[in-house]
Amino acid sequence: MTRKNKTKPRPRIDGAPPPPPPFRAVYDDLYRAWGPQHWWPGRTRFEIIVGAILTQNTAWTNVEKAIRRLRIERALNPKSLHRADLRTLAEWIRPAGYYNVKAKRLRAFTGMLFGRFDGKLSRLFALDTPTLRDTLLSVNGIGPETADSIILYAAHRPRFVIDTYTRRVLVRHGWIDRRAGYDDIAEQFMRAIPEDTSLYNEFHALIVRLGKEHCRARPHCEACPLKAYLPKGGPHLR
Ligand code: SF4
Repeated sequence: MTRKNKTKPRPRIDGAPPPPPPFRAVYDDLYRAWGPQHWWPGRTRFEIIVGAILTQNTAWTNVEKAIRRLRIERALNPKSLHRADLRTLAEWIRPAGYYNVKAKRLRAFTGMLFGRFDGKLSRLFALDTPTLRDTLLSVNGIGPETADSIILYAAHRPRFVIDTYTRRVLVRHGWIDRRAGYDDIAEQFMRAIPEDTSLYNEFHALIVRLGKEHCRARPHCEACPLKAYLPKGGPHLR
């Protein structure tokens, strides 16, 4: 994607709504700084789904440990995971934290898969995207971020994933109100960026890197690729 104008948001004095956040330019700057991230969170579609559920409220390194254990136990497929004893399953995924809750969430997902789609991901993913999203959201413990991660990474469809890093960057630059809802933010991205699965994947991966390297709890703006977009007076921290 080629950047034409780097537009920085600035308050309007004529009462008109502020210009939309410069998502395309931000993407270009991050991509220019770091290039492709080669991010694909799992070897199979089912592993990606398991990872999306396990990563709630924990670091990815912990998820990798839990996934490794599931692989050793040969439980990284819908049938084995659905049949596993719940307490045993919780023990296997212990490194991911909140393991009792997450074991129930994994089981809720496989319950939906076997209850409605004969245990087959191909049938689940045959749904159109809005129906697929509603179906995922109907599973206990799957919220918008997890559902969109599954749609983007496992179903390979263009849904933008909004995580804590994304929200933090947007708030700090004054591009969204800190009370903005998930769907509102996702719609803003999807209006600004052409629907393209690879692009959404890459953009999300770049934002995650941004959050880890620069936009931490205490921001490191000095060497950040988005420094030029900071509002006058610095990032909005409160
Ligand atoms: S410039 Fe500062 S506030 Fe903006 S993304 Fe970078 S670290 Fe975060």
